[in-house]
Amino acid sequence: MHLVLVPTPIGNLEDITLRALRVLREVEVVACEDTRRTGFLLDHFGIETPTVRLDQHTVGRAAALLERHRYVAYATDAGTPGISDPGAELVRLALEWGWRVEALPGPTALIPALVVSGLPTHRFVFEGFLPPKGKERRARLARLAKEDRTVVLYEAPHRLARTLQDLAELYGETHPIAVARELTKRHEEVYRGTIGQALEHFQEARGEFVLVLGPRAVREALDERALLAQLEAQGL
Ligand code: SAM
Repeated sequence: MHLVLVPTPIGNLEDITLRALRVLREVEVVACEDTRRTGFLLDHFGIETPTVRLDQHTVGRAAALLERHRYVAYATDAGTPGISDPGAELVRLALEWGWRVEALPGPTALIPALVVSGLPTHRFVFEGFLPPKGKERRARLARLAKEDRTVVLYEAPHRLARTLQDLAELYGETHPIAVARELTKRHEEVYRGTIGQALEHFQEARGEFVLVLGPRAVREALDERALLAQLEAQGL
């Protein structure tokens, strides 16, 4: 019994791998978050494997899926299953059932955003989506304030401004950030600047976003450089 996690493009269909296409063709069934969306992808590549819905509301039905089949692929709406989507729950169950679980490498939003950010990549932490409000959000933000690695966050467009405001309060407006929008799509944009500048720039946020925050040390180095330049300008 074999479950394969199949990453799918986050915007550009050319990003599907040859191995992903082979597996999608080979399996008995493709479980997916959205049968229309994955069906479109399969159609595009001429793949006729049946699909079955398994999203955050129906992940409870995963046991029935594992009972009925021996070779299953799982694809989420976009990117790598298990990263901020219901994939992790299915993996947990499949492992409990003694299935072999295999993950194909492939598209995800966090890695391209990190590596294109221009911020340090040697140590980073992925925080996914922050809790939308309340005590949990405050607790997570408070922990982030102490973080000295690069931080990668996912955010929905309607919450972007609120999150940038909270981050500005936490880190200060001059803290370095990169905001990657609509990666691999026609309107791809990577904005690099300070949190304050990003707030101004993304007043009307549309599309999908990844936020990459520089570690404290980067801001301190920038502050020091600004101070040196100021002292130099004063002839000191
Ligand atoms: N499993 C996916 C992955 O591997 O990246 C993530 C799924 S999560 C439900 C969706 C979030 O990923 C979006 O809200 C956004 O933060 C990010 N995302 C997905 N596609 C993106 C893209 N093309 N550009 C920027 N961010 C993207």
